[in-house]
Amino acid sequence: MTWVITKLCLDCKDTECAEVCPVDCIYELQADDEEFSKNMLYIHPTECIDCAACEPACPWQAIFEDSQVPTLFNADIELNAKVFEKHPPEDFTTEPTAIRKNPTPEEIEENKKKWGYA
Ligand code: SF4
Ligand code: SF4
Repeated sequence: MTWVITKLCLDCKDTECAEVCPVDCIYELQADDEEFSKNMLYIHPTECIDCAACEPACPWQAIFEDSQVPTLFNADIELNAKVFEKHPPEDFTTEPTAIRKNPTPEEIEENKKKWGYA
C-alpha cells in the first residue's frame, strides 16, 4: 500500500507533507521534464511505509491512499511511480520549495473546483 499525491498539489505545493514524512519518501523533481511538473511533489511508491502521516498534514487535501484516489485523479497513481522510473535519485530533493502556504477554506475549495473535484 502506498499513498499518492494528486494534481490538487500542483501550483500549491506548500511542502507540509515532506516535513512530516518519517522516511523522507516525498520528493520534488529538480530536473526539467515536460511530463512531470516541479510545482507538485511525488511519493515514492516503494519507499512509502504506509504510515498515513502525510494525508492529514496536507492543507490542500491532495493526498490519498492509492485505493482511495478519486477516479478523476487516477492517472496520478502512475505518475507518482513513473517519475522515479524515469529519473535518477540525483534529480530529486526531499527539501522542496513551497509555493502557497496556509490556504483559506475558500482557496482549498477553489482549487478543487479548478480540477472539477468539488
Ligand atoms: S504515508 Fe507515511 S511514509 Fe508514506 S508518504 Fe505519507 S508520510 Fe511518507
Ligand atoms: S502537503 Fe499537500 S499541497 Fe503541500 S506539498 Fe504536500 S501534497 Fe502538495
